[in-house]
Amino acid sequence: MAFIINYDHCLCCGSAAISKVLTCTDYTVSHEQFDVWKCSACTLRFTQNVPAAAYIGSYYQSSDYVSHSDSRKGFINSIYHIVRKFTLKGKRNLIRKVTGLRQGVLLDIGAGTGAFANTMQHAGWNVTGLEPDNIAREKALGKYNLRLAELGELESLVGETFDAITMWHVLEHVHDLHGYLEKFHQILKPEGRLVVAVPNYTSYDATVYKDQWAAYDVPRHLYHFSPKSMEVLMEKTGFMLETIKPMWFDSFYVSMLSEKNKHGKNYFFRAFWNGFVSNLKAFSDTTKCSSVIYVIKKK
Ligand SMILES: [Zn+2]
Repeated sequence: MAFIINYDHCLCCGSAAISKVLTCTDYTVSHEQFDVWKCSACTLRFTQNVPAAAYIGSYYQSSDYVSHSDSRKGFINSIYHIVRKFTLKGKRNLIRKVTGLRQGVLLDIGAGTGAFANTMQHAGWNVTGLEPDNIAREKALGKYNLRLAELGELESLVGETFDAITMWHVLEHVHDLHGYLEKFHQILKPEGRLVVAVPNYTSYDATVYKDQWAAYDVPRHLYHFSPKSMEVLMEKTGFMLETIKPMWFDSFYVSMLSEKNKHGKNYFFRAFWNGFVSNLKAFSDTTKCSSVIYVIKKK
């Protein structure tokens, strides 16, 4: 098995018209550099020469990795946790709206420490949550009495079972991209919705921070989607995009992390300003928001 993956074609559309566009640093864990490449045909960007699935684990080992640690240390983390309370309700309402159901059957992939799965369970949904990190799974059990399963459980799910499948900032981490989407197609009900939140490199804040834009997050983020490339990927896998929803807080959060990458400390007002301008631009065009939620249905 290869240690690293070198792409000679676009893994989204298959085009060979790929070339290097940026060199990014892993600011969170390894401080190694990784090249980001682009596809001229579908506009997908992706991290080149990424560690294979079996070797990427060490790049997740950091107490700073907020989605894992659930830590409340530090300024950015504190704000993250305050805002999360509000965004959880927003996510719940979104799922109700796009499925047209008050209650239903939900699969949450990459459930982390279970905050969203818990919110949905409290709202009366039948929730299956999958999470690869065993420390996160233990925290979900301790904090919410929520039993999350390992990712391997996905294999055992069969039939058109789910009204909604959610991935909140997870799809960009998944090695077996096409395998996952194929599986989702099998287990999503005909009228079900796939809801995928990912960063958007076509946003204003990505343009400002360039290689220091925190949402490149190499090598953990394997793919850097544009709305166009997401549309192409979904079309190729039997889905279609229904709507694109903005995630307003992410522009501020990512700008704060990016300022830290750039200067080694928090420049709150500059980050706030860039986040604000990014949202202002996204206000008239949601496809320009720092992170977006794709609501997807079967073709
Ligand atoms: Zn492509």
